[in-house]
Amino acid sequence: MDRAPGSRETQVGALPAGAGPQQAPSPVPTPVGGAPRILILFSDTGGGHRAAARALTDALKLFDPTCVVTVADPLMAQGPAVVRRLASLYSPMIQRSRVAWGAVYHSSNTKPTFAAIRAVFGRGVRKVTVELIKKHDPDVLLSVHPLLNHMTYQAIQKCGRPRALMTVITDLVDFHRGWTFSQADLVVAPTELARKVAIRRRVPPDRVKLLGLPVDLRFRPPAPGEKQALRRRFGLDESRFTILVMGGAAGAGSLLKQVRMLAWELQQWQVVAICGRNEKLRRRLARVHFATPTLVLGFVDYMPELMRACDVTVTKAGPGAIAEALATGLPLIITGFLPGQESPNVDFVVKSGVGKFSPKEADLLEEVRVLAEGGPTWREMSRRAAELAHPYASSDIARECLLLAARYRASAQASR
Ligand code: UDP
Repeated sequence: MDRAPGSRETQVGALPAGAGPQQAPSPVPTPVGGAPRILILFSDTGGGHRAAARALTDALKLFDPTCVVTVADPLMAQGPAVVRRLASLYSPMIQRSRVAWGAVYHSSNTKPTFAAIRAVFGRGVRKVTVELIKKHDPDVLLSVHPLLNHMTYQAIQKCGRPRALMTVITDLVDFHRGWTFSQADLVVAPTELARKVAIRRRVPPDRVKLLGLPVDLRFRPPAPGEKQALRRRFGLDESRFTILVMGGAAGAGSLLKQVRMLAWELQQWQVVAICGRNEKLRRRLARVHFATPTLVLGFVDYMPELMRACDVTVTKAGPGAIAEALATGLPLIITGFLPGQESPNVDFVVKSGVGKFSPKEADLLEEVRVLAEGGPTWREMSRRAAELAHPYASSDIARECLLLAARYRASAQASR
């Protein structure tokens, strides 16, 4: 039953009861009662997909502690060797050559090239996904990665009983064509602009929902007195304006130059530099004696608390970092972007009035000076950030996912 994606006959979104009799015999028994089962598919290409998968897992468990959630990476962890090798090039590539990444992104984002990629790598990834389905018997396959949607749909077709396919787009404004698969039951858009792009790319409007980009539910503005308490906890000065500098999970971009610019000479503020998995950078920064107080950290799993301790986020235009800063009510200074999926995020931040674009280190200093005064500019940006944020996106998405699971389980039971 391996039908081409796009075939209307076998659309996953059709009422599952009707789809049941047309399926191949299932090696998996149809579920009777029991807890909803969700399989989240992501890949470790960039930190955003992993963060979204984790936020959704937590939100699902919060909503229904009985639900069984499995998170799998059919590209990097379980994928075929050649796919693993190619996917693992993402981090080194974005650190060493953004231009090369831009070329890869744009050339893979045409209809024929994307079809060719699926034809070459689809078989191996589908096989892994079919095995995952057989093992975990999910009611909903929830994808947070652009390369997995079409192949997951095909894997579902091979595994008997109807199951839902849900896609949660984790890019903010414009995105790779792989995100929008018109047969998905539900496509979750992070912004109104993204919702429009999805509809323009032929996802039926009633299957696109604007729910926000899923962030950890711990991202929220600090309660009164909490910012100071957190600063004490991290060994920071309680009263200094605090700048969080980051470059995604890989610690990409010119972090070294940015931190030097902000902290080399004595300033009124303090800096928290998060190097992520860039251990070389962490070691280098840790050796420097800055005149301005600077806390240098590697990969942290307490980003919500760190953001709440800070006053501004300086980052590349990563969708995860932007959505998390908005949920915390933090203004942003964008220092760069990955060509492709991150380019339009710069305009999004600037035009929405939540931040500035400062690709040159010298300008960065100027922007920080204005914000560090803590006057109307900072307050207005923080207010706009809170307006734009979707701090409960994970919870809203989890709810939709569980509704889909209930619908598919009910129809599977009815067709027994
Ligand atoms: N992140 C983290 N710890 C770190 C550095 C980053 O948890 O030390 C998280 C960050 O909170 C965000 C994600 O990694 O959720 C980065 O996502 P983004 O979309 O900003 O950039 P990407 O890494 O995907 O390029």
